[in-house]
Amino acid sequence: MNSKDLKEKLFRPSTNGWETVSPEEKQNILDFSNDYIKFLNTAKTERECTKEIEKILNNQGFKNINTLQNIKAGEKIYYVNRHKNIYAAVIGTDNLENGFNIIGSHIDSPRLDLKPNPLYEETELALFKTHYYGGIKKYQWVNIPLSMHGVIVKSDEEVVEVNIGENEDDPIFTIADLLPHLSSKQNKNTAENVISGEDLNILIGSIPFNTNEEVEKVKLNILNILNKKYGITERDFVSAEIEFVPSFKSKSLGFDQSMIAGYGQDDRVCAYTSIKALLEIEIPKKTAICILADKEEIGSVGNTGMCSRTFECFVNEILEKTTGNQAGLIDKVFNNSKLLSADVTGAYNPNFSSVYEKNNESYIGHGISILKYTGSASKGGASDANAEFLGYIRKIFEKNNITYQNSEMGKIGIGGGGTIAYILANKGMDVVDCGVPVISMHSPYEITSKFDVYNTYKAYKAFYED
Ligand code: MN
Ligand code: MN
Repeated sequence: MNSKDLKEKLFRPSTNGWETVSPEEKQNILDFSNDYIKFLNTAKTERECTKEIEKILNNQGFKNINTLQNIKAGEKIYYVNRHKNIYAAVIGTDNLENGFNIIGSHIDSPRLDLKPNPLYEETELALFKTHYYGGIKKYQWVNIPLSMHGVIVKSDEEVVEVNIGENEDDPIFTIADLLPHLSSKQNKNTAENVISGEDLNILIGSIPFNTNEEVEKVKLNILNILNKKYGITERDFVSAEIEFVPSFKSKSLGFDQSMIAGYGQDDRVCAYTSIKALLEIEIPKKTAICILADKEEIGSVGNTGMCSRTFECFVNEILEKTTGNQAGLIDKVFNNSKLLSADVTGAYNPNFSSVYEKNNESYIGHGISILKYTGSASKGGASDANAEFLGYIRKIFEKNNITYQNSEMGKIGIGGGGTIAYILANKGMDVVDCGVPVISMHSPYEITSKFDVYNTYKAYKAFYED
């Protein structure tokens, strides 16, 4: 065997996915990406994501589990948790005790939430105080167009939905940074402090209410506008969940249109690809479940986060309505279940080569990334997947011609991250992190490769169908 053939046989392949696709496949990739871009533009918050996916599930014959008495193989069901998190399942033919094939992603993304008392006036300008959510580089969020999304619940429990800044003729909002002419002091700050948390105040108005009274006239005018439009008063912000997110649209990136730039791809890219995969499977052998969790970006805590027992509640209900439940059965099910923790990873960014260890990074366009473990320097806090389980996943991917890469994220000690992997691994499941590589993760405009997005959807489908 010559050295070229020997190399091909023995070396770990690192394949640029675009070099492997046929013209038809390329068209599939572009069509899939167009739908994904539309989804990103409609579903910018966890609530909007939940609503949109519930709509898709209903259209595809999925039924809310609460409406069913008995569930049998082939049944398509879902459960919506407090408007912010969703579980969907297709019941398989195999005995449920033998475990499920689960793909778990999250639908919350870093953003700016309003504080409980957000509205104030200073020098005849009205502003909102925000409290950022998730790990952001705060300086990236100034002087970009922001839109306002969420709900305000009045004291009679009426829920008012808000969405301003997405339509062409809507106004937008922004946080005004300091001009360079007066920035000599600001420029000496470390990046973390160039803009502080308390500087993330959103400009929302400047016309005074028409009165001679000594009141905060601009604030009064804004409240009057909000009162006329939504029937709310300042006190109603106490029972509101308002999120400000980038208002710019997700778009194709590059002359070759090979990439997607868009807000919230962490982790809606894995949410979208996994739900698409679930929609397309026939009656599976193993029950297939798609988890779309909330609150991952702040530690998966709370009743809509992965740490809550709501998922157990859903699984117990499946057991009750199929074979009948019994003590300890859910533990057996979890112990026999397999989970892809479907979350994005940081892709190599040529602008910052020094933070990467080139042999162990993900590259966009090179397919779905498998991360055996996440965590930081000591692997602290990581769910370290078993070699046997990785062997099983590889087998599925290789059998189905999935282009995959395996990586860490950055040099040892440079930083780190986490996912929902450990939470489900702690319940006894076999778990590995497996998702789309993203450049500029957690920024207002994250970047993915269209090849990877489509490839990930195919990988998830292959996992469900195995
Ligand atoms: Mn994520
Ligand atoms: Mn994240």
